[in-house]
Amino acid sequence: MPLAAFGGYNGRKPEKIQKYRAVSRDLFYESASPDDVFPKVFEVGKISEVHIRARGLPDTAWIFCASEDGFDLDGNNYFPEYATVFSDDSVSGYKKQSPSDRLKMPHLPYERTSEGIVLKVVFPREGRYVFSMRSGGKVIGRVWVYALESDLFSLRPYRGDIHMHTTFSDGRDTNLEMALSALSVGCDFISPSDHRRREGSIDLIRKFEGVPSSLKVFPAEEAHASLLHINNFGSTGSIEEWSRRERADFDAHTNRILGSIPPSLKLSDLDALTLAQSEAVFEKIGEMGGISIFNHPYWRRNGEQLCVSDGLRDALISRGKFDAYEIVNGSINYDSSDLSAARHAEAAQSGNYMPIVGCSDAHNSGELGCGVTLAFAASCDLNGVKSAIMSRSTVAVDTFGSFERPKMYGKMRMLKYASFLWKNFFPLHDEICLGQAAALREYFEGGKTRELRERVAEEAGKLADLEKKVWG
Ligand SMILES: [Zn+2]
Ligand SMILES: [Zn+2]
Repeated sequence: MPLAAFGGYNGRKPEKIQKYRAVSRDLFYESASPDDVFPKVFEVGKISEVHIRARGLPDTAWIFCASEDGFDLDGNNYFPEYATVFSDDSVSGYKKQSPSDRLKMPHLPYERTSEGIVLKVVFPREGRYVFSMRSGGKVIGRVWVYALESDLFSLRPYRGDIHMHTTFSDGRDTNLEMALSALSVGCDFISPSDHRRREGSIDLIRKFEGVPSSLKVFPAEEAHASLLHINNFGSTGSIEEWSRRERADFDAHTNRILGSIPPSLKLSDLDALTLAQSEAVFEKIGEMGGISIFNHPYWRRNGEQLCVSDGLRDALISRGKFDAYEIVNGSINYDSSDLSAARHAEAAQSGNYMPIVGCSDAHNSGELGCGVTLAFAASCDLNGVKSAIMSRSTVAVDTFGSFERPKMYGKMRMLKYASFLWKNFFPLHDEICLGQAAALREYFEGGKTRELRERVAEEAGKLADLEKKVWG
């Protein structure tokens, strides 16, 4: 029988949370019970206290800890079902372990507390670890934690979406509605990126000034000065304004670049012009301190043709003048993100691992959450998110509108950690965000009273408290 305390969610209904998040009701599954162990993330090589909630743990119980790839904390290779056998003639093999054999395996000393147990351990290397509690030869509970080298341990994961549309362009919902909905699906930062208009984001930043919410809003605009769709993220100005009001400057940039495109690229006139204009936009975004992002590289513009030709896309990628690549665009044609991912992998194979983001490109609040970026950053501010993108410390996530089986892209090290967090940290994070979104809605719709403002601050504070619990 599994332990009674497991899967309890401290009295909350798992069904309610499950509606929103990837959680399992199978008590032996990771994420079944994220309340049951704190902290969850540790630093490699440090003496660490692990608190496991395990009320009613039998006196006969023993605890074992192994890394995901099968080593105990002393570095012994471990596989619970089989033991290695070397016979006399040196032919190696395996034999199935009996439950009593398994009991002979090393187990960890622990102390009992009123809520469960506490263990002192040192995690020898980076990765995911599972603590299994056993009694009578059977597993009666499991919890998962993660150990990190100090560089990644010092960062925190922030979930965000920096490509969406509001009523400032062709979106159905206001920028405020998009912000409230983004928070309710667990976003820590957002950027409305309206077509040709940076005002959608600037207006929202103003609305959030002085509001004690944890949600951060950054400036963005989907630029269309060329035929390419380019996210002008986090810069100080608008590409639309520059390319219209300072047309001569834009044209000068374009003509200079046009002259530098080698004939060997064999681009059509249209593609050559688009390449030059796009690179002019990338340059300008850089001058204005922003990050230029190649949006939805495989979007089908009219249901027939892709938004750019293969030759133009290849030229854009090999010349490498944009800063980041939107590998996941959650709301467009079903295979577009697959094609984007395959092209990214090909570029990476030839040594060009482009920085990535995942976005929703939502045109209404119901689409939010279908594509997001996890940014590992020192803090959830514009500089933190920018440096996470540029240092390739992001994971792009395609959720297909459901958080149950996300598809993730990123560097292996980041992705392994992200997948742990998705199951063990974000269900708790997202539940708090949902509460904060409700408080924030009341604040904006209920007259912005001091009382409502304090409620928002209180809800935001819960997120800071959770962070302290998870990272110890
Ligand atoms: Zn677009
Ligand atoms: Zn868009």
